[in-house]
Amino acid sequence: MILDRTPFYAESGGQNADAGVIEFDGGSAEVLDVQRPLKGLVVHQIRVVDGELTLDADVRAKVDPEWRLGARQAHSGTHVVHAALRQVLGPTALQSGSYNRPGYLRLDFAWKGGLSQQERHDIEDVSNLAVRRDLPVTATYMPLPEARAAGAIALFGETYNPEKVRVVRIGPGQWSIELCGGTHVESSSQIGPLVVTGESSVGSSSAGSRR
Ligand SMILES: [Zn+2]
Repeated sequence: MILDRTPFYAESGGQNADAGVIEFDGGSAEVLDVQRPLKGLVVHQIRVVDGELTLDADVRAKVDPEWRLGARQAHSGTHVVHAALRQVLGPTALQSGSYNRPGYLRLDFAWKGGLSQQERHDIEDVSNLAVRRDLPVTATYMPLPEARAAGAIALFGETYNPEKVRVVRIGPGQWSIELCGGTHVESSSQIGPLVVTGESSVGSSSAGSRR
Protein backbone atom coordinates (compact mmCIF):
# COMPACT_ATOMS: atom_id res chain seq x y z
CA MET A 1 0.00 0.00 0.00
CA ILE A 2 1.26 3.45 -0.89
CA LEU A 3 -0.10 6.55 0.88
CA ASP A 4 0.29 10.19 -0.06
CA ARG A 5 2.04 10.65 3.31
CA THR A 6 2.81 8.30 6.18
CA PRO A 7 3.96 8.39 9.80
CA PHE A 8 5.52 4.91 9.40
CA TYR A 9 9.29 4.60 9.53
CA ALA A 10 10.55 2.47 6.64
CA GLU A 11 13.37 0.05 7.44
CA SER A 12 16.55 2.05 7.01
CA GLY A 13 19.97 2.50 8.53
CA GLY A 14 19.65 -0.77 10.43
CA GLN A 15 16.44 0.29 12.13
CA ASN A 16 13.56 -2.08 11.61
CA ALA A 17 10.29 -0.78 10.13
CA ASP A 18 7.48 0.50 12.37
CA ALA A 19 4.53 -1.69 13.22
CA GLY A 20 0.93 -0.53 13.50
CA VAL A 21 -2.43 -0.46 11.79
CA ILE A 22 -4.10 1.30 8.89
CA GLU A 23 -7.79 1.95 9.48
CA PHE A 24 -10.35 2.76 6.81
CA ASP A 25 -14.13 3.02 6.64
CA GLY A 26 -15.50 -0.37 7.55
CA GLY A 27 -12.21 -2.11 8.18
CA SER A 28 -8.57 -2.18 9.15
CA ALA A 29 -5.25 -3.63 8.05
CA GLU A 30 -2.20 -4.69 9.98
CA VAL A 31 1.14 -3.24 8.83
CA LEU A 32 3.61 -6.13 8.44
CA ASP A 33 6.57 -4.31 6.92
CA VAL A 34 7.51 -0.89 5.55
CA GLN A 35 10.19 -0.45 2.92
CA ARG A 36 11.58 2.40 0.85
CA PRO A 37 12.60 0.82 -2.46
CA LEU A 38 13.23 4.24 -4.04
CA LYS A 39 14.04 7.59 -2.51
CA GLY A 40 10.79 9.24 -1.45
CA LEU A 41 8.64 6.13 -2.02
CA VAL A 42 7.37 4.36 1.12
CA VAL A 43 5.64 1.02 0.57
CA HIS A 44 3.61 -0.65 3.32
CA GLN A 45 3.13 -4.40 3.27
CA ILE A 46 -0.24 -4.95 4.89
CA ARG A 47 -2.73 -7.67 5.74
CA VAL A 48 -6.38 -6.62 5.64
CA VAL A 49 -7.86 -7.86 8.92
CA ASP A 50 -11.46 -6.96 8.12
CA GLY A 51 -13.45 -4.98 5.56
CA GLU A 52 -12.47 -4.31 2.00
CA LEU A 53 -9.88 -1.79 0.95
CA THR A 54 -10.49 0.23 -2.20
CA LEU A 55 -8.30 2.49 -4.31
CA ASP A 56 -8.23 6.15 -3.17
CA ALA A 57 -9.75 5.26 0.20
CA ASP A 58 -9.26 7.70 3.08
CA VAL A 59 -7.23 5.91 5.71
CA ARG A 60 -5.84 6.58 9.18
CA ALA A 61 -2.29 5.27 9.54
CA LYS A 62 -1.42 4.59 13.18
CA VAL A 63 2.04 3.59 14.36
CA ASP A 64 1.90 1.29 17.39
CA PRO A 65 3.20 3.67 20.11
CA GLU A 66 4.68 0.86 22.21
CA TRP A 67 6.56 -0.50 19.22
CA ARG A 68 7.84 2.95 18.29
CA LEU A 69 9.07 3.60 21.83
CA GLY A 70 10.91 0.26 21.81
CA ALA A 71 12.36 1.04 18.39
CA ARG A 72 13.57 4.47 19.55
CA GLN A 73 15.16 2.87 22.62
CA ALA A 74 16.95 0.13 20.66
CA HIS A 75 18.06 2.44 17.86
CA SER A 76 19.32 5.15 20.24
CA GLY A 77 21.10 2.35 22.09
CA THR A 78 23.22 1.68 18.98
CA HIS A 79 24.49 5.28 19.14
CA VAL A 80 25.41 4.82 22.81
CA VAL A 81 27.13 1.45 22.30
CA HIS A 82 28.98 2.82 19.25
CA ALA A 83 30.27 5.79 21.30
CA ALA A 84 31.22 3.48 24.17
CA LEU A 85 33.02 1.14 21.74
CA ARG A 86 35.08 4.05 20.44
CA GLN A 87 35.79 5.33 23.92
CA VAL A 88 37.07 1.91 25.02
CA LEU A 89 38.81 0.69 21.82
CA GLY A 90 39.74 4.04 20.27
CA PRO A 91 38.50 6.06 17.29
CA THR A 92 39.45 3.40 14.72
CA ALA A 93 36.58 1.23 15.97
CA LEU A 94 33.77 2.16 13.59
CA GLN A 95 30.28 0.86 13.12
CA SER A 96 30.01 -0.89 9.75
CA GLY A 97 26.37 -1.88 10.11
CA SER A 98 23.64 -2.45 12.64
CA TYR A 99 20.27 -3.99 13.17
CA ASN A 100 17.76 -3.01 15.81
CA ARG A 101 14.18 -3.64 16.81
CA PRO A 102 12.37 -3.20 20.14
CA GLY A 103 14.35 -4.94 22.88
CA TYR A 104 17.33 -5.88 20.72
CA LEU A 105 20.24 -4.27 18.96
CA ARG A 106 23.26 -5.52 17.09
CA LEU A 107 26.24 -3.39 16.16
CA ASP A 108 28.67 -4.57 13.46
CA PHE A 109 32.21 -3.25 13.46
CA ALA A 110 35.48 -4.19 11.82
CA TRP A 111 38.15 -5.16 14.34
CA LYS A 112 41.37 -7.09 14.35
CA GLY A 113 40.26 -9.81 16.75
CA GLY A 114 37.92 -10.77 19.55
CA LEU A 115 37.35 -8.44 22.46
CA SER A 116 38.70 -9.30 25.88
CA GLN A 117 36.29 -9.84 28.73
CA GLN A 118 37.55 -6.57 30.24
CA GLU A 119 36.83 -4.65 27.02
CA ARG A 120 33.31 -6.04 26.80
CA HIS A 121 32.76 -5.20 30.44
CA ASP A 122 34.09 -1.66 29.91
CA ILE A 123 31.87 -1.10 26.83
CA GLU A 124 28.83 -2.19 28.83
CA ASP A 125 29.86 0.03 31.77
CA VAL A 126 30.46 3.14 29.64
CA SER A 127 27.13 2.56 27.86
CA ASN A 128 25.14 2.23 31.07
CA LEU A 129 26.88 5.22 32.64
CA ALA A 130 25.80 7.31 29.62
CA VAL A 131 22.24 6.03 30.11
CA ARG A 132 22.27 6.86 33.84
CA ARG A 133 23.60 10.35 33.19
CA ASP A 134 20.40 11.14 31.30
CA LEU A 135 22.26 12.93 28.48
CA PRO A 136 20.18 15.02 26.10
CA VAL A 137 19.63 13.61 22.58
CA THR A 138 19.31 16.27 19.90
CA ALA A 139 18.84 16.26 16.13
CA THR A 140 19.79 19.25 13.96
CA TYR A 141 20.08 19.82 10.21
CA MET A 142 23.15 21.35 8.56
CA PRO A 143 25.24 21.08 5.38
CA LEU A 144 27.47 17.98 5.19
CA PRO A 145 30.83 19.83 5.37
CA GLU A 146 29.68 21.60 8.55
CA ALA A 147 28.64 18.26 10.06
CA ARG A 148 31.99 16.69 9.22
CA ALA A 149 33.80 19.67 10.71
CA ALA A 150 31.80 19.17 13.90
CA GLY A 151 33.10 15.59 14.03
CA ALA A 152 29.94 13.79 12.92
CA ILE A 153 30.44 10.16 11.96
CA ALA A 154 29.04 9.10 8.61
CA LEU A 155 28.12 5.44 8.36
CA PHE A 156 29.64 3.10 5.84
CA GLY A 157 27.55 2.49 2.73
CA GLU A 158 25.14 5.37 3.35
CA THR A 159 24.74 8.21 0.89
CA TYR A 160 24.15 11.71 2.17
CA ASN A 161 22.72 14.89 0.71
CA PRO A 162 25.67 17.33 0.81
CA GLU A 163 23.34 20.30 1.32
CA LYS A 164 21.38 18.98 4.27
CA VAL A 165 22.17 16.19 6.69
CA ARG A 166 20.65 15.31 10.05
CA VAL A 167 23.12 15.33 12.91
CA VAL A 168 22.19 13.39 16.04
CA ARG A 169 24.12 14.14 19.20
CA ILE A 170 24.04 12.44 22.56
CA GLY A 171 25.52 14.39 25.42
CA PRO A 172 27.84 17.35 25.35
CA GLY A 173 30.91 17.77 23.13
CA GLN A 174 31.87 15.08 20.66
CA TRP A 175 31.00 11.99 22.70
CA SER A 176 28.38 10.86 20.18
CA ILE A 177 27.74 12.73 16.92
CA GLU A 178 26.36 10.74 14.01
CA LEU A 179 24.63 11.47 10.75
CA CYS A 180 21.35 9.64 11.15
CA GLY A 181 17.76 9.69 9.91
CA GLY A 182 16.45 7.24 12.51
CA THR A 183 14.06 7.73 15.41
CA HIS A 184 15.55 8.51 18.82
CA VAL A 185 14.65 8.99 22.45
CA GLU A 186 14.78 12.51 23.92
CA SER A 187 17.32 11.72 26.59
CA SER A 188 19.61 8.76 27.18
CA SER A 189 17.88 7.48 30.33
CA GLN A 190 14.86 6.59 28.20
CA ILE A 191 16.98 3.90 26.51
CA GLY A 192 17.02 1.81 29.69
CA PRO A 193 19.75 -0.64 30.71
CA LEU A 194 22.05 -2.12 28.04
CA VAL A 195 23.49 -5.64 28.37
CA VAL A 196 26.12 -7.19 26.12
CA THR A 197 24.70 -10.65 25.46
CA GLY A 198 27.19 -11.85 22.90
CA GLU A 199 29.94 -11.14 20.46
CA SER A 200 30.75 -13.04 17.30
CA SER A 201 32.85 -12.80 14.18
CA VAL A 202 31.34 -12.86 10.72
CA GLY A 203 34.63 -12.78 8.83
CA SER A 204 37.61 -15.12 8.80
CA SER A 205 40.12 -12.56 7.50
CA SER A 206 42.57 -10.90 9.86
CA ALA A 207 40.28 -7.86 10.04
CA GLY A 208 36.97 -9.64 10.30
CA SER A 209 33.78 -7.85 11.07
CA ARG A 210 32.56 -8.34 14.63
CA ARG A 211 29.14 -8.06 16.24
ZN1 LIG B 1 20.14 7.25 14.88
